[in-house]
Amino acid sequence: MSITNQQLFDRAQRTIPGGVNSPVRAFRQVGGVPRFIDRAEGPYMIDAEGTRYIDYIGSWGPMIVGHAHPEVTAAVQKAATRSLSFGAPTADEIDMAEAICKLMPAVEQVRLVSSGTEAGMSAIRLARGFTGRDAIVKFEGCYHGHADSLLVKAGSGLLTFGNPSSGGVPADLAKHTLVLEFNNIAQIEELFAKRGSEIACVIVEPIAGNMNFIRGTQAWHQRLRALCTEHGAMLVWDEVMTGFRVALGGAQQVYGIRPDMVVMGKVIGGGMPLAAFGGRADVMAKLSPLGSVYQAGTLSGNPLAVAAGMAQLRLIQQPGFYERLSATTQKLMRGLEAAAARHGVPFCTDSEGGMFGFYFSTRLPQNYPDMADADVEVFKRFFHAMLDRGVYLAPSMFEAGFVSAAHGDVEIEATLSAADAAFAELAR
Ligand code: PLP
Repeated sequence: MSITNQQLFDRAQRTIPGGVNSPVRAFRQVGGVPRFIDRAEGPYMIDAEGTRYIDYIGSWGPMIVGHAHPEVTAAVQKAATRSLSFGAPTADEIDMAEAICKLMPAVEQVRLVSSGTEAGMSAIRLARGFTGRDAIVKFEGCYHGHADSLLVKAGSGLLTFGNPSSGGVPADLAKHTLVLEFNNIAQIEELFAKRGSEIACVIVEPIAGNMNFIRGTQAWHQRLRALCTEHGAMLVWDEVMTGFRVALGGAQQVYGIRPDMVVMGKVIGGGMPLAAFGGRADVMAKLSPLGSVYQAGTLSGNPLAVAAGMAQLRLIQQPGFYERLSATTQKLMRGLEAAAARHGVPFCTDSEGGMFGFYFSTRLPQNYPDMADADVEVFKRFFHAMLDRGVYLAPSMFEAGFVSAAHGDVEIEATLSAADAAFAELAR
């Protein structure tokens, strides 16, 4: 063996803070050594030691057709020969905008950016610019990227403005963000009754994927929609994770609800740095160069990212794609539940399309406090028992999991057999 993950981790920590370029990759919640990935193919990732894993992270969502899909790779290679960036408009980015607007009816106009963070940050600026209001509402446990206004936790009381949840975020800025409990109708009603005229937007992950997998209830989402309409606030759905993942039309298709603005990322870039925000044409018209809200990007609409994204968007529009993806996810979920039951481990799952969550509990969580109560020690043991058997799950119980179209019966059976052994270890 030429090099180990441990050697790479030691070396990485000398020049990269914590050895990683995004914190969750450091395995802090589960302990142990992060796997340094050498390459990936279809449903598999292969680390620097040559060990192969069945991958249920999929780069945290984008890799819905599997790794190194020949059509996506070929599209990027072809685009690369025409230059890596122009900093000027292209016909291909119009194709992408048209595809997004067709697939997500709430998106009448869209702007391409390079990360979900950038998209979320820009959407909030636009909501503030459009409404002329400063306050925004988010929900505890939802993640919308690391823009300052969104790294905020709840204040001391329901109607108090939020406090920074990260060092470096000014309290003066955080005070404009109100943080409420996910799925709590009474709280949002009370807030709008008291402060409705101050609120620029409500931003929400329709199915939260950053506190494991927690569905917003239909009734709660309908109430959010109605309250925003009534008070002139923008309803912003963060579909960075759910978009083109839980269904072709995203969570909007699942719930049949039309937000005013939508934030997208992950799947639309096919694994390249590409994200987008869009929505009502009258709102998007406020954006520079038409309107007063500034937003820009050197690499926005990057030709390689657009090529990868378009290739992936073509693949996911093939007939039966989501039926097959959901069936694979369902097979995995039912199999995990059955394995846990065989060993008497309290366990349940939830999923939509190619996105899933599992919990060491008999009841599905409804909000962040439910998740925060979960037993992290059990999760850790399960995670390592699976990793030792070649199954790569998210190294945090606060993350959703992802299945790709490249996962077939062979991978699901192998995962379930690993899970059977892992649950047996937990039961001991
Ligand atoms: N919004 C959601 C729902 C996400 O899950 C993420 C990332 O995981 C983001 C926004 C931020 O996207 P990015 O990591 O591309 O900045």
